[in-house]
Amino acid sequence: MVPNPTPEPQPCALCGGLIQAYLPAFHHLVLDEHHEVDLCQACIDKFMRWQATKFATLFPTKTLKKRFGAG
Ligand SMILES: [Zn+2]
Repeated sequence: MVPNPTPEPQPCALCGGLIQAYLPAFHHLVLDEHHEVDLCQACIDKFMRWQATKFATLFPTKTLKKRFGAG
């Protein structure tokens, strides 16, 4: 696949909105050879926050510190 130097805005796979300033290197997620999606920055941010919340819940700071020897 040849990278497109001036890619068109792509629809976000999660919210359906057009991804402005679309950058394949940043917004294009390749899951495997059969599954590829484009994600907008807002959805990426929400996903990251969601994951951080899950991690904070599953691995409270005390546990993290014990596990990784920090603090
Ligand atoms: Zn989105």
